[in-house]
Amino acid sequence: MPTFADLGLRPTWLQVDLTALDHNFRALRERTGPGIKICAIVKADAYGHGAATVARRLEKLGCDYFGVAMVEEGSELRAAGIGSPIVLLGAVWGEGAVRAAAADDIEISIHNRDILPAVSRAAADTGRPLRVHLKIDTGMGRLGIAAAEVPAWCREARGAGLELVGVYTTFSSADDAGSPRTGRQLERFVGAIESLERCGFRPPLRHAANSGAILNFPETLLTLVRPGLLLYGIEPTPEGQGPGGGFRPVASLRTRVAQVAAYPPGSRFGYSGTFEARRESRMAVLPVGYGDGVSRLLSNNGDVLIRGRRAPIVGRVSMDLLVADISDLPRAEVGDLATLIGRDGGEEIGAWEVAERAGTIPWEVLCGVGCRVPRAATEGEKVVSIVSRLERR
Ligand SMILES: *Cc1c(COP(=O)(O)O)cnc(C)c1O
Repeated sequence: MPTFADLGLRPTWLQVDLTALDHNFRALRERTGPGIKICAIVKADAYGHGAATVARRLEKLGCDYFGVAMVEEGSELRAAGIGSPIVLLGAVWGEGAVRAAAADDIEISIHNRDILPAVSRAAADTGRPLRVHLKIDTGMGRLGIAAAEVPAWCREARGAGLELVGVYTTFSSADDAGSPRTGRQLERFVGAIESLERCGFRPPLRHAANSGAILNFPETLLTLVRPGLLLYGIEPTPEGQGPGGGFRPVASLRTRVAQVAAYPPGSRFGYSGTFEARRESRMAVLPVGYGDGVSRLLSNNGDVLIRGRRAPIVGRVSMDLLVADISDLPRAEVGDLATLIGRDGGEEIGAWEVAERAGTIPWEVLCGVGCRVPRAATEGEKVVSIVSRLERR
Protein backbone atom coordinates (compact mmCIF):
# COMPACT_ATOMS: atom_id res chain seq x y z
CA MET A 1 0.00 0.00 0.00
CA PRO A 2 1.58 3.38 -0.97
CA THR A 3 1.93 5.99 1.78
CA PHE A 4 0.08 9.32 1.75
CA ALA A 5 3.39 11.03 0.97
CA ASP A 6 3.90 8.73 -2.06
CA LEU A 7 0.47 9.76 -3.27
CA GLY A 8 1.14 13.45 -2.66
CA LEU A 9 -1.60 13.62 -0.03
CA ARG A 10 -1.84 15.35 3.31
CA PRO A 11 -1.23 12.66 5.93
CA THR A 12 -4.48 13.14 7.86
CA TRP A 13 -6.81 10.16 7.84
CA LEU A 14 -9.57 8.30 9.60
CA GLN A 15 -8.47 4.75 10.32
CA VAL A 16 -11.42 2.37 10.10
CA ASP A 17 -10.57 -0.93 11.75
CA LEU A 18 -12.66 -3.56 9.97
CA THR A 19 -11.55 -6.23 12.45
CA ALA A 20 -13.17 -4.21 15.24
CA LEU A 21 -16.29 -3.76 13.10
CA ASP A 22 -16.50 -7.56 12.61
CA HIS A 23 -16.10 -8.02 16.34
CA ASN A 24 -18.87 -5.54 17.17
CA PHE A 25 -21.28 -7.07 14.66
CA ARG A 26 -20.69 -10.55 16.07
CA ALA A 27 -21.05 -9.23 19.64
CA LEU A 28 -24.41 -7.71 18.66
CA ARG A 29 -25.53 -10.92 16.99
CA GLU A 30 -24.63 -12.84 20.11
CA ARG A 31 -26.49 -10.40 22.34
CA THR A 32 -29.69 -10.30 20.27
CA GLY A 33 -29.77 -13.99 19.28
CA PRO A 34 -30.28 -15.73 15.95
CA GLY A 35 -34.03 -15.07 15.54
CA ILE A 36 -33.73 -11.30 15.42
CA LYS A 37 -32.69 -9.43 12.29
CA ILE A 38 -30.01 -6.75 12.44
CA CYS A 39 -30.45 -3.53 10.49
CA ALA A 40 -27.04 -1.83 10.50
CA ILE A 41 -27.53 1.92 10.59
CA VAL A 42 -25.19 3.42 7.99
CA LYS A 43 -26.68 6.90 7.57
CA ALA A 44 -24.36 9.93 7.47
CA ASP A 45 -21.69 7.89 5.66
CA ALA A 46 -21.88 5.17 8.32
CA TYR A 47 -21.35 7.73 11.10
CA GLY A 48 -18.34 9.02 9.17
CA HIS A 49 -16.70 5.61 8.76
CA GLY A 50 -17.52 5.24 5.03
CA ALA A 51 -20.89 3.72 4.16
CA ALA A 52 -19.82 1.57 1.20
CA THR A 53 -16.85 0.05 3.04
CA VAL A 54 -18.85 -0.63 6.19
CA ALA A 55 -21.92 -2.05 4.42
CA ARG A 56 -19.86 -4.35 2.16
CA ARG A 57 -18.06 -5.73 5.16
CA LEU A 58 -21.24 -6.26 7.20
CA GLU A 59 -23.10 -7.81 4.29
CA LYS A 60 -20.37 -10.47 4.09
CA LEU A 61 -20.95 -11.21 7.77
CA GLY A 62 -24.64 -11.80 7.11
CA CYS A 63 -26.12 -8.46 8.15
CA ASP A 64 -29.83 -8.59 7.26
CA TYR A 65 -30.72 -4.95 6.55
CA PHE A 66 -29.21 -1.52 6.14
CA GLY A 67 -30.75 1.71 7.43
CA VAL A 68 -30.21 5.13 5.83
CA ALA A 69 -31.78 8.57 6.20
CA MET A 70 -31.95 9.79 2.60
CA VAL A 71 -32.58 8.26 -0.82
CA GLU A 72 -29.09 9.29 -1.97
CA GLU A 73 -27.55 7.28 0.85
CA GLY A 74 -29.47 4.19 -0.20
CA SER A 75 -28.55 4.69 -3.86
CA GLU A 76 -24.89 4.97 -2.90
CA LEU A 77 -25.11 1.54 -1.26
CA ARG A 78 -26.77 0.04 -4.34
CA ALA A 79 -24.01 1.54 -6.53
CA ALA A 80 -21.49 -0.09 -4.16
CA GLY A 81 -23.05 -3.47 -4.88
CA ILE A 82 -25.16 -3.93 -1.76
CA GLY A 83 -28.01 -6.31 -2.56
CA SER A 84 -29.53 -6.63 0.94
CA PRO A 85 -32.74 -4.81 1.86
CA ILE A 86 -32.26 -1.11 2.56
CA VAL A 87 -34.75 0.94 4.56
CA LEU A 88 -34.94 4.72 4.49
CA LEU A 89 -35.70 5.84 8.04
CA GLY A 90 -35.97 9.57 7.40
CA ALA A 91 -38.62 11.85 5.95
CA VAL A 92 -39.58 11.19 2.34
CA TRP A 93 -39.83 14.29 0.18
CA GLY A 94 -42.67 13.87 -2.27
CA GLU A 95 -43.21 11.74 -5.30
CA GLY A 96 -39.72 12.27 -6.75
CA ALA A 97 -38.15 10.68 -3.69
CA VAL A 98 -40.69 7.83 -3.69
CA ARG A 99 -39.89 7.06 -7.32
CA ALA A 100 -36.12 7.33 -6.82
CA ALA A 101 -36.34 4.96 -3.86
CA ALA A 102 -38.47 2.50 -5.85
CA ALA A 103 -35.98 2.57 -8.72
CA ASP A 104 -33.18 1.48 -6.38
CA ASP A 105 -35.33 -0.96 -4.44
CA ILE A 106 -35.11 1.09 -1.25
CA GLU A 107 -37.92 0.57 1.24
CA ILE A 108 -39.31 3.87 2.48
CA SER A 109 -40.86 5.05 5.72
CA ILE A 110 -44.41 6.31 5.71
CA HIS A 111 -44.86 8.85 8.46
CA ASN A 112 -48.10 10.53 7.41
CA ARG A 113 -51.10 10.03 5.16
CA ASP A 114 -50.23 12.75 2.62
CA ILE A 115 -47.61 10.62 0.90
CA LEU A 116 -50.01 7.74 0.15
CA PRO A 117 -51.24 9.06 -3.24
CA ALA A 118 -47.62 9.40 -4.42
CA VAL A 119 -46.88 5.83 -3.30
CA SER A 120 -49.98 4.68 -5.11
CA ARG A 121 -48.97 6.37 -8.39
CA ALA A 122 -45.36 5.13 -8.18
CA ALA A 123 -46.58 1.58 -7.53
CA ALA A 124 -48.98 1.72 -10.48
CA ASP A 125 -46.13 2.83 -12.75
CA THR A 126 -43.65 0.21 -11.56
CA GLY A 127 -46.32 -2.47 -11.70
CA ARG A 128 -45.65 -3.87 -8.24
CA PRO A 129 -46.45 -2.81 -4.68
CA LEU A 130 -43.84 -0.65 -2.92
CA ARG A 131 -42.34 -2.10 0.25
CA VAL A 132 -42.82 0.36 3.10
CA HIS A 133 -42.42 0.69 6.87
CA LEU A 134 -44.99 2.64 8.87
CA LYS A 135 -43.50 4.98 11.46
CA ILE A 136 -45.40 5.44 14.71
CA ASP A 137 -44.66 8.37 17.02
CA THR A 138 -44.99 6.85 20.50
CA GLY A 139 -43.59 9.78 22.46
CA MET A 140 -40.48 11.05 20.70
CA GLY A 141 -42.55 13.98 19.40
CA ARG A 142 -40.95 13.77 16.00
CA LEU A 143 -41.65 11.90 12.78
CA GLY A 144 -44.55 9.45 12.60
CA ILE A 145 -48.30 9.08 13.04
CA ALA A 146 -49.83 8.74 16.50
CA ALA A 147 -51.09 5.30 17.53
CA ALA A 148 -54.63 6.72 17.55
CA GLU A 149 -54.35 7.62 13.85
CA VAL A 150 -53.64 4.04 12.78
CA PRO A 151 -57.25 3.08 11.84
CA ALA A 152 -57.65 6.19 9.66
CA TRP A 153 -54.27 5.48 8.07
CA CYS A 154 -55.31 1.90 7.32
CA ARG A 155 -58.46 3.05 5.52
CA GLU A 156 -56.37 5.20 3.18
CA ALA A 157 -53.52 2.71 2.81
CA ARG A 158 -55.75 -0.16 1.73
CA GLY A 159 -55.51 -0.42 -2.02
CA ALA A 160 -52.75 2.23 -2.18
CA GLY A 161 -50.32 -0.21 -3.79
CA LEU A 162 -48.09 -0.74 -0.81
CA GLU A 163 -46.77 -3.81 0.91
CA LEU A 164 -46.42 -3.08 4.61
CA VAL A 165 -43.24 -4.96 5.49
CA GLY A 166 -42.51 -3.12 8.72
CA VAL A 167 -43.84 -0.94 11.50
CA TYR A 168 -41.48 0.94 13.78
CA THR A 169 -40.91 3.61 16.35
CA THR A 170 -38.02 5.53 17.91
CA PHE A 171 -37.32 5.73 21.65
CA SER A 172 -36.44 9.11 23.11
CA SER A 173 -34.60 7.91 26.22
CA ALA A 174 -33.33 4.35 25.75
CA ASP A 175 -29.76 5.39 26.66
CA ASP A 176 -31.06 5.84 30.22
CA ALA A 177 -31.61 2.39 31.73
CA GLY A 178 -33.65 3.93 34.56
CA SER A 179 -36.09 5.94 32.46
CA PRO A 180 -39.75 4.84 32.55
CA ARG A 181 -40.34 6.49 29.15
CA THR A 182 -39.07 3.51 27.15
CA GLY A 183 -41.60 1.15 28.76
CA ARG A 184 -44.42 3.60 28.11
CA GLN A 185 -43.35 4.04 24.47
CA LEU A 186 -43.17 0.26 24.01
CA GLU A 187 -46.72 -0.08 25.38
CA ARG A 188 -48.05 2.49 22.92
CA PHE A 189 -46.15 0.79 20.11
CA VAL A 190 -47.67 -2.60 20.93
CA GLY A 191 -51.09 -0.89 20.95
CA ALA A 192 -50.42 0.52 17.47
CA ILE A 193 -49.38 -2.92 16.18
CA GLU A 194 -52.60 -4.45 17.54
CA SER A 195 -54.59 -1.69 15.95
CA LEU A 196 -52.86 -2.39 12.59
CA GLU A 197 -53.70 -6.09 12.93
CA ARG A 198 -57.35 -5.31 13.57
CA CYS A 199 -57.30 -3.50 10.21
CA GLY A 200 -55.78 -6.55 8.52
CA PHE A 201 -52.15 -5.37 8.27
CA ARG A 202 -49.60 -7.82 9.73
CA PRO A 203 -46.15 -6.41 8.95
CA PRO A 204 -43.51 -9.11 9.58
CA LEU A 205 -40.95 -6.57 10.84
CA ARG A 206 -41.65 -4.73 14.09
CA HIS A 207 -38.71 -2.64 15.23
CA ALA A 208 -37.79 -0.08 17.84
CA ALA A 209 -34.39 -0.75 19.42
CA ASN A 210 -31.38 1.52 18.83
CA SER A 211 -28.04 0.91 20.59
CA GLY A 212 -29.30 2.14 23.97
CA ALA A 213 -32.37 -0.10 23.89
CA ILE A 214 -30.31 -3.12 22.81
CA LEU A 215 -28.15 -2.67 25.91
CA ASN A 216 -30.79 -1.59 28.42
CA PHE A 217 -34.20 -2.93 27.35
CA PRO A 218 -34.07 -6.50 25.97
CA GLU A 219 -37.87 -6.61 25.83
CA THR A 220 -37.74 -4.03 22.99
CA LEU A 221 -35.73 -6.16 20.53
CA LEU A 222 -38.92 -7.47 18.77
CA THR A 223 -38.12 -8.85 15.28
CA LEU A 224 -35.38 -6.47 14.13
CA VAL A 225 -32.90 -4.15 15.86
CA ARG A 226 -31.33 -0.95 14.53
CA PRO A 227 -27.85 -0.47 16.02
CA GLY A 228 -25.73 2.47 14.97
CA LEU A 229 -23.25 3.65 17.58
CA LEU A 230 -22.56 0.19 19.06
CA LEU A 231 -21.55 -1.17 15.66
CA TYR A 232 -18.88 1.50 15.61
CA GLY A 233 -17.72 0.36 19.03
CA ILE A 234 -18.95 3.26 21.13
CA GLU A 235 -21.37 2.78 24.00
CA PRO A 236 -24.26 5.24 24.23
CA THR A 237 -23.25 6.53 27.68
CA PRO A 238 -19.77 7.62 28.80
CA GLU A 239 -19.84 5.32 31.85
CA GLY A 240 -20.31 2.28 29.61
CA GLN A 241 -16.96 2.89 27.96
CA GLY A 242 -13.82 1.02 28.86
CA PRO A 243 -12.67 -2.56 29.20
CA GLY A 244 -15.37 -5.15 29.68
CA GLY A 245 -17.96 -3.28 27.62
CA GLY A 246 -17.37 -5.79 24.85
CA PHE A 247 -17.36 -3.35 21.94
CA ARG A 248 -14.23 -2.00 20.24
CA PRO A 249 -13.93 1.51 18.76
CA VAL A 250 -13.65 1.24 14.98
CA ALA A 251 -12.47 4.76 14.07
CA SER A 252 -9.20 6.52 14.91
CA LEU A 253 -8.48 10.02 13.68
CA ARG A 254 -4.80 10.38 12.93
CA THR A 255 -2.32 12.77 11.35
CA ARG A 256 1.42 13.46 11.35
CA VAL A 257 3.46 16.29 12.84
CA ALA A 258 4.11 18.86 10.10
CA GLN A 259 6.49 21.22 11.96
CA VAL A 260 8.34 21.35 15.27
CA ALA A 261 9.76 24.60 16.65
CA ALA A 262 11.06 26.02 19.95
CA TYR A 263 9.70 29.25 21.45
CA PRO A 264 10.76 31.50 24.35
CA PRO A 265 8.46 32.18 27.32
CA GLY A 266 5.82 34.80 26.48
CA SER A 267 5.23 33.48 22.94
CA ARG A 268 1.63 33.25 21.84
CA PHE A 269 -0.03 30.69 19.59
CA GLY A 270 -2.86 30.69 17.08
CA TYR A 271 -5.55 33.23 16.16
CA SER A 272 -6.07 35.90 18.83
CA GLY A 273 -3.04 34.55 20.71
CA THR A 274 -5.19 32.89 23.35
CA PHE A 275 -2.34 30.76 24.71
CA GLU A 276 0.84 32.25 26.18
CA ALA A 277 3.84 30.04 26.88
CA ARG A 278 5.05 30.35 30.48
CA ARG A 279 8.25 28.41 29.79
CA GLU A 280 10.67 27.53 27.01
CA SER A 281 8.34 25.50 24.79
CA ARG A 282 8.44 23.11 21.87
CA MET A 283 5.34 23.10 19.75
CA ALA A 284 4.14 20.66 17.08
CA VAL A 285 1.92 21.85 14.26
CA LEU A 286 -0.62 19.27 13.08
CA PRO A 287 -2.26 19.47 9.62
CA VAL A 288 -5.85 19.05 10.83
CA GLY A 289 -8.49 21.51 12.01
CA TYR A 290 -12.16 22.31 12.27
CA GLY A 291 -12.43 22.00 8.47
CA ASP A 292 -11.86 18.30 9.10
CA GLY A 293 -14.30 18.03 12.00
CA VAL A 294 -11.97 18.77 14.92
CA SER A 295 -14.17 21.04 17.03
CA ARG A 296 -12.96 24.56 17.70
CA LEU A 297 -14.26 23.99 21.23
CA LEU A 298 -11.10 21.89 21.75
CA SER A 299 -9.06 25.12 21.62
CA ASN A 300 -6.92 25.15 24.80
CA ASN A 301 -9.14 22.26 25.88
CA GLY A 302 -8.03 18.89 24.65
CA ASP A 303 -5.12 16.59 24.00
CA VAL A 304 -3.58 14.65 21.16
CA LEU A 305 -1.43 11.55 21.51
CA ILE A 306 2.14 11.58 20.22
CA ARG A 307 4.55 8.74 20.97
CA GLY A 308 2.02 7.22 23.32
CA ARG A 309 1.80 10.37 25.49
CA ARG A 310 -0.69 13.21 25.83
CA ALA A 311 0.21 16.61 24.36
CA PRO A 312 -2.23 19.48 25.08
CA ILE A 313 -3.82 21.45 22.23
CA VAL A 314 -2.72 25.07 22.67
CA GLY A 315 -4.38 28.17 21.22
CA ARG A 316 -7.32 28.13 18.86
CA VAL A 317 -7.98 25.19 16.58
CA SER A 318 -7.98 26.73 13.11
CA MET A 319 -9.58 25.42 9.93
CA ASP A 320 -6.63 23.39 8.69
CA LEU A 321 -4.10 23.40 11.53
CA LEU A 322 -3.69 23.13 15.25
CA VAL A 323 -0.75 23.40 17.64
CA ALA A 324 0.12 20.87 20.36
CA ASP A 325 2.56 21.49 23.22
CA ILE A 326 5.28 18.82 23.06
CA SER A 327 7.61 20.46 25.60
CA ASP A 328 7.39 17.28 27.72
CA LEU A 329 8.08 15.03 24.71
CA PRO A 330 11.67 15.99 23.84
CA ARG A 331 12.02 13.25 21.24
CA ALA A 332 8.91 14.16 19.24
CA GLU A 333 9.77 15.19 15.69
CA VAL A 334 8.37 16.05 12.26
CA GLY A 335 6.55 13.06 10.75
CA ASP A 336 5.54 11.54 14.10
CA LEU A 337 2.11 9.96 14.25
CA ALA A 338 -0.44 12.10 16.13
CA THR A 339 -3.77 10.68 17.27
CA LEU A 340 -6.79 12.89 17.92
CA ILE A 341 -9.21 10.02 18.52
CA GLY A 342 -7.97 6.53 19.25
CA ARG A 343 -5.23 4.63 20.96
CA ASP A 344 -1.46 5.06 20.86
CA GLY A 345 0.62 2.82 23.08
CA GLY A 346 -0.96 2.71 26.53
CA GLU A 347 -2.94 5.95 26.10
CA GLU A 348 -6.35 6.40 24.55
CA ILE A 349 -8.52 9.37 23.64
CA GLY A 350 -12.04 8.04 23.16
CA ALA A 351 -14.88 9.59 21.17
CA TRP A 352 -16.65 10.27 24.48
CA GLU A 353 -13.68 12.26 25.82
CA VAL A 354 -13.59 14.43 22.71
CA ALA A 355 -17.38 14.79 22.73
CA GLU A 356 -17.56 15.89 26.35
CA ARG A 357 -14.78 18.43 25.93
CA ALA A 358 -16.61 19.83 22.92
CA GLY A 359 -19.99 19.82 24.69
CA THR A 360 -21.52 17.21 22.40
CA ILE A 361 -22.00 13.46 21.89
CA PRO A 362 -19.90 10.86 20.02
CA TRP A 363 -22.55 10.55 17.28
CA GLU A 364 -21.82 14.18 16.28
CA VAL A 365 -18.04 13.83 16.68
CA LEU A 366 -17.94 10.80 14.35
CA CYS A 367 -20.22 12.03 11.61
CA GLY A 368 -18.51 15.44 11.79
CA VAL A 369 -15.24 14.04 10.40
CA GLY A 370 -15.08 15.92 7.12
CA CYS A 371 -14.91 14.89 3.50
CA ARG A 372 -11.30 16.16 3.30
CA VAL A 373 -10.22 13.25 5.49
CA PRO A 374 -9.62 10.02 3.57
CA ARG A 375 -10.89 6.83 5.19
CA ALA A 376 -8.21 4.16 5.49
CA ALA A 377 -9.74 0.76 6.16
CA THR A 378 -7.46 -1.60 8.07
CA GLU A 379 -7.46 -5.13 9.29
CA GLY A 380 -5.63 -4.75 12.57
CA GLU A 381 -2.92 -2.27 11.51
CA LYS A 382 -2.72 -3.41 7.87
CA VAL A 383 -4.25 -0.90 5.43
CA VAL A 384 -6.59 -2.64 2.97
CA SER A 385 -8.18 0.34 1.21
CA ILE A 386 -8.12 4.12 1.13
CA VAL A 387 -11.27 5.95 0.12
CA SER A 388 -11.21 9.69 -0.45
CA ARG A 389 -14.24 11.86 -1.21
CA LEU A 390 -11.84 14.35 -2.82
CA GLU A 391 -9.94 13.11 -5.84
CA ARG A 392 -6.39 14.28 -6.51
CA ARG A 393 -5.94 14.22 -10.26
C1 LIG B 1 -29.83 6.70 13.75
C2 LIG B 1 -30.93 5.79 14.07
C3 LIG B 1 -30.70 4.62 14.82
C4 LIG B 1 -29.36 4.26 15.43
O1 LIG B 1 -29.21 4.85 16.70
P1 LIG B 1 -27.93 4.53 17.63
O2 LIG B 1 -28.25 5.22 18.90
O3 LIG B 1 -26.73 5.10 16.95
O4 LIG B 1 -27.86 3.05 17.77
C5 LIG B 1 -31.77 3.77 15.01
N1 LIG B 1 -32.99 4.05 14.52
C6 LIG B 1 -33.25 5.18 13.81
C7 LIG B 1 -34.63 5.44 13.31
C8 LIG B 1 -32.24 6.08 13.57
O5 LIG B 1 -32.50 7.18 12.86
